[in-house]
This record gives sequence, C-alpha cells and structure tokens, in this order.
Amino acid sequence: MHSLSPKITIALDGYAACGKSTLARDLCAALEYSFIDTGAMYRAVTYWILRQGISLDPNRPWIQILKDVPFVWHVADGIFRITYNGLDIETEIRSMEVSSRVSDVAAVSGIRAFLVRQQQLLGREGGVVLDGRDIGTVVFPDAELKLFVTADTEIRVNRRLAELIAKGTPVTRADVKANLDERDLIDSTRQDSPLQAAPDALWLDTSRMDRVQQLRIVLGRAQELVDKRGWSASRSVVVP
Ligand code: C5P
Repeated sequence: MHSLSPKITIALDGYAACGKSTLARDLCAALEYSFIDTGAMYRAVTYWILRQGISLDPNRPWIQILKDVPFVWHVADGIFRITYNGLDIETEIRSMEVSSRVSDVAAVSGIRAFLVRQQQLLGREGGVVLDGRDIGTVVFPDAELKLFVTADTEIRVNRRLAELIAKGTPVTRADVKANLDERDLIDSTRQDSPLQAAPDALWLDTSRMDRVQQLRIVLGRAQELVDKRGWSASRSVVVP
C-alpha cells in the first residue's frame, strides 16, 4: 500500500532501566509503529560471544564474523524478537551473565559498526521507535523526535529488581545496583559512541510518572512536531 504520509522515527536514549523499553512498546501500540530494541541486539551478540568462548579482541574483523552468525531480528505481533539458529533467545539474553558482560562487548567498535548498520536497515522506512544509547546521536541523528529518558537510581534499581524477580532470576538488590552502575559508567565513558543526550533531545524524567503520563507527554510532543513542521502523520496521534 502506498502512503503519502511520512512516518516519523522516534529515538529513545538513556541510562539502563529508566523505562525506555516500556515507553517504546506503549508508543508503538498507540501509533502502530515497530519497536527496535537495540540493547537486545548487543545482548544477543554478547550471548553468542560467551557461548563461543571467544575473546573480545578489538582487532578481529567483527563485521565479517558477525554477518555469518545466524541471528534473525524481526518484529512479530509488535514484539521485537531475536532468534539464533532459529531459536528464540529472549530468556538467555536477559540473564545476569549477559548483563554483566554486555557493556564490554558494546564498547568494541567493530561490533558497534555491525549492529548500527543492522539497526539502520531495520528502521530505514520510518514508523519506528528505537530504544538504546546512541540512537539520536549515531544511528538516526536525523530522527524527528529524540528523547533522553532518566529516572532516579533507587527507582531504576527497584524496577529492574522487580522485573528479574518476576522472571524467577535469582538476584539480589546489590547485584542489580552494581550491574546498573557498572553498565552506565562503561556506556557513558567508552570511546566509540558514548551514551549522551543529543543536543536536540527532549529530557524525560520518568521517576514520578506512570506509563499513561509518559505516553501522553511523548505523543503530545510528537503531535506538536508534526503540526509545526507540516508533516502529516501516518495515523493521527491520539492522546489518551
Ligand atoms: O537496553 P539494554 O539495557 O538492554 O542494553 C544493554 C547494553 O547494550 C547497554 O548497557 C549498552 O552497553 C549496550 N547498548 C549500546 N548501544 C545501544 C543499546 C545498548 O551500547 N544502542
């Protein structure tokens, strides 16, 4: 079907466990957009590296190596899914083992180059919400709407702990806090594409907002942008 209405690209960046992926999913449901969970892609590569037992040597030809790994990233029923060798690896990539290594993996430039390209291909038609660390700065610097999502540390730790416990992962509060602190430090100080807010990003502190409030603010902002720039949205934005 041909549509004359351009679909916009929404970039959500921020520290770990600020609620980006929940907001991304809510936006996708409201707008009928596709969700691209870029963190899940770094997690999948980390899972594969751990499984292979190979070192993280930055001089390896990572782009060549990774293009032959049988990952499939796709959106099914609005959910971003990754399979490896045909098997869904959602549970594996959320393990604490993967969480504790993923930021080292994501600091390797060759690995970033491979995944950034994949993300650009997945999102090239617009009508997407991408959640990550470098979306508004590197992956889609021309995204029409960029958000930098933050939340108080205590709230982030509590949210992630509750999520892991609900999944039956044996984990303590101290483990979760240490992992978030460590990842944020590595992610924001690495050489290649460090986590930082794009200069034109809207800051959104989710500490004291529920999901409906967050969604209302972001949809309102999307509507303002569309009105101001004269884009016609693929579907009119309805604020709940
Ligand atoms: O989003 P999530 O917390 O699952 O991301 C896991 C890790 O993947 C981050 O801590 C970061 O090291 C890496 N990442 C990244 N760039 C992105 C998305 C995630 O470096 N765009």
